Formats: sequence, structure tokens, C-alpha cells
Amino acid sequence: MKYISTRGDQTQRSFSEILLEGLAPDGGLYMPDHYPKVSAFTLARWRTLPYAELALEILSMFIDDIPRDDLRTLVEKTYTRHTFGSDEIVPLRELDDNLYIEALSNGPTLAFKDMAMQLLGNLFEYELARRGEELNILGATSGDTGSAAEYAMRGKQGVRVFMLSPQGRMSPFQQAQMFSLADPNIHNIAIEGVFDDCQDIVKAASNDLEFKRRHKIGTVNSINWARLLAQVVYYFAGYFQATESNDEKVAFAVPSGNFGNVCAGHVARMMGLPIKHLVVATNENDVLDEFFRTGSYRVRGGAETYETSSPSMDISKASNFERFVFDLLGRDGARTAQLFGPGLAQQGGFALAPDEVERIRLFGFRSGKSTHADRVATIRATWEQHQDMIDPHTADGLKVARSLREVDVPMIVLETALPAKFAATIEEALGRQPTRPVTLEGIEALPKRFTVMPADAAQVKDYIAEHASNS
Ligand SMILES: *Cc1c(COP(=O)(O)O)cnc(C)c1O
Repeated sequence: MKYISTRGDQTQRSFSEILLEGLAPDGGLYMPDHYPKVSAFTLARWRTLPYAELALEILSMFIDDIPRDDLRTLVEKTYTRHTFGSDEIVPLRELDDNLYIEALSNGPTLAFKDMAMQLLGNLFEYELARRGEELNILGATSGDTGSAAEYAMRGKQGVRVFMLSPQGRMSPFQQAQMFSLADPNIHNIAIEGVFDDCQDIVKAASNDLEFKRRHKIGTVNSINWARLLAQVVYYFAGYFQATESNDEKVAFAVPSGNFGNVCAGHVARMMGLPIKHLVVATNENDVLDEFFRTGSYRVRGGAETYETSSPSMDISKASNFERFVFDLLGRDGARTAQLFGPGLAQQGGFALAPDEVERIRLFGFRSGKSTHADRVATIRATWEQHQDMIDPHTADGLKVARSLREVDVPMIVLETALPAKFAATIEEALGRQPTRPVTLEGIEALPKRFTVMPADAAQVKDYIAEHASNS
């Protein structure tokens, strides 16, 4: 399997070559040069496999430069009961007839990002050791991504994490999760500023090519192909749990922000998993819902980007969306470059031609939007009717799923976080505190390890230079 760019650069790269990379050199995103097809016979064989073995089968279709035995060791080390809390790894529960929730959030940071990030940590450690290299991961976070990255990379050989977060702006729980880590390769930097200041510093450091090269700076953001690939596995695992035979079709409802999660569903469908609909659920930041309803993609400005009670879906544009559009346009790299290149920033968006809009249907996408009032009402109703406590993001997914489901088609809502992370909204909906896994009781009282710095790229770069080689 080779990888190409969505913007037309046809250079063929292997999996290991793109594993540690962000964007392709032409500014596009990496994509497999074709989708391997899964036959009915193979699907039948996979149905009974444990999660780690299923992951091995799927990953090895896309990775041909890591020996299978090594890949087996990596997935077996990653997808364990110890890390994810159950043998199923992503257990399904039925809410109503044919309406399911697939639990993707039982990993160490209680959000679905652990599903991919835990594998990425092991892949990075393996690949860096093989090359005799080291990597310093620099990132900015306002919550889920940063903690998932830190819990995946903690204690890993050859990797250090420098994670910037806006001082005092994360929830006490999220802050405790990150700042209580004692591993010497994890560096929490609390910036005196807002999230945008953190992102600006990361950009400034990454644009300094000399600094980037000298200190081996890398990222783990959501455009990383390996993250997306790891997510493909749980679409198969969910399908097998919801159906009895491979003749059945299902739908997935996916709380969406940067389009990474649902894009993995698109890949699963392209491989031949019988998915009838992929339901994209957004919050008030409805760039994607608007696109799937109209074929117009309109990047939002700051004033139109809202802080909501499902904060991990608060986006102004969707960074993985270009991958789907590339497929939608018949993999026309020149046309994709035209839509997503410099023109996107200038024009603030694009509208597809009528024949292109027509094609969206062929890919099974549906979409809908959920607001704060919907979220609160859905959390409340789910608690009252099913004694099931769901988080605000999952509530967005469930709300949209209920409005678009078809009676005969099993609908699987992806649970992207646990309620324990979002106490304020749960309190508003239910008048009580969310339940919390016992292992995380009292986490706020643990000693915290972090460094406070002003919003100044030069000082952050000095700090990295000082700590990049001797921990
Ligand atoms: C990251 C995240 C999302 C959005 O996922 P995308 O892959 O960016 O679409 C949804 N819910 C939660 C809880 C998240 O952490």
C-alpha cells in the first residue's frame, strides 16, 4: 500500500514514511492510493475475532512495511482489557429497539481519542527505535487531544511531549488529568493567554524550520493518517456486535468536529463494510451540517465560532474534510487543490457544482445539528428513560440519530466521551454530579506538575531547547 496527497502530488510513500509526518509537502493530506476491499468471506471470518486481532487484520491491509509479527505485538499491547476496561474494548449497548451506543471512551482519558492515540504511542516508539531517532511532540490543547496524547506517550522511549494549554481555562478535571502525570518525558506548559495564543506559539515554532529540524519537532494532530486508520477498526467491531449476519446494513451517528472520526467510517464503508448511512452530527458549529445539506463549505470566522457545551466539536473548519472531498471528486487532486489551496482562505469557502453535489448521496452521508437545549434534553431523557448517563457530545449524536433513523436499519451512536469530563452540563441536565470511574476519584487532589509561561513564542522555544535532549 502506498500513500499519495489529496492535492495531486503523486509521490508514492510508504506507511512508515508518513507515520511521523503532518501535511504532505504540497499542503494536502495523505491518503491510501486505493481502498483494499473486504470480501463477504473475509467479513464472515472477522466477525468472531477479538478486537486486537481484528485490528491486526485491518491495519495490515494498509501497512506493508512493518513485519506482521511486530504489528501483532503492537496491537496486542495497545488494545487490552487493562487499558480499555473490557474484553470487547468497544462494547455496544442497546437503548431502544435497533438503537445502540458504542462505547469508545473507556480508555485512560475517557474520550474516544484514546482509541487511536494509544496505538500511535506504540507505533511512534517502535518506528523511532527502528530508525534510532527521537521526536519532540509540540501541541496546543484545550482538553481532549492533549490529554489523550500525553497518556499515549507517557514513558515512551525516544518521545517527549510539550503540551501548551491556556492557563486556568480547562475544566478542573481535565487539568488534573494532564498536570498530575509524573513522567519525565511529559511537559505541561500553561500559557498566560487563551487557546489561540497557544496555537499561535505552536505555529511560530513549527514555521521556524531550523528550530523544527534541530529539535526534531513533530505533532500528533487529527490529520495524522495512522490515527484515522486506527479508528476504522471500531466501525467493524460495532457492526459485528449490532448484526447477526453480513447481509444486514447499519447506520452510524458520529458527533463530529474535525471530521476525523466519521472519515474513518467513510474508509470502512469504502472497504465494503455494509454501512447504509454515515450520520454527521454537529453542534451549533454547523459547517459540516451545512455542507451536507447544501454542498457549500463556508469556513467560519472567529465571531461565528461558538463556545458550546460540547467543546470538542467547536470548530471553524474541519481539518480532515479534504479527505472526503478528494474521494467525492473522483480523486481529482487538481480540483481538490483548487478548492482547499490558498483560495480557501481568500474566498472563505466554496460551493460544489450541481453534479458534484449530486454525488454526495452515493457516499451514504446524512447530517443534522444539535443545540445546547437539545443536548440537555437528550441527556435528561436518556437518564430518565434508560438510567443511562451520556456525555454532551454523545447527546448531540443521539439527538441527530433519533431524527434520522430508519426503523429497519440498526443505528449505532458513537460514544465519544464519558459524562465525568463535563460535570457542569450534567449538573444542569440532571441536577447531580456525573458518575466517575473509581480509578479517577480524587484526581484533583494529586500533586500537579506544570510550568507557567507568558504567551511568548521565544520563551517557549527556549524551554523546549533546554528540555528537548536531556530527559
Ligand atoms: C475530538 C472529539 C470529537 C470530534 O471528533 P472529530 O474526529 O474531530 O470529528 C467529538 N467528541 C469528542 C468527545 C471529542 O473529543
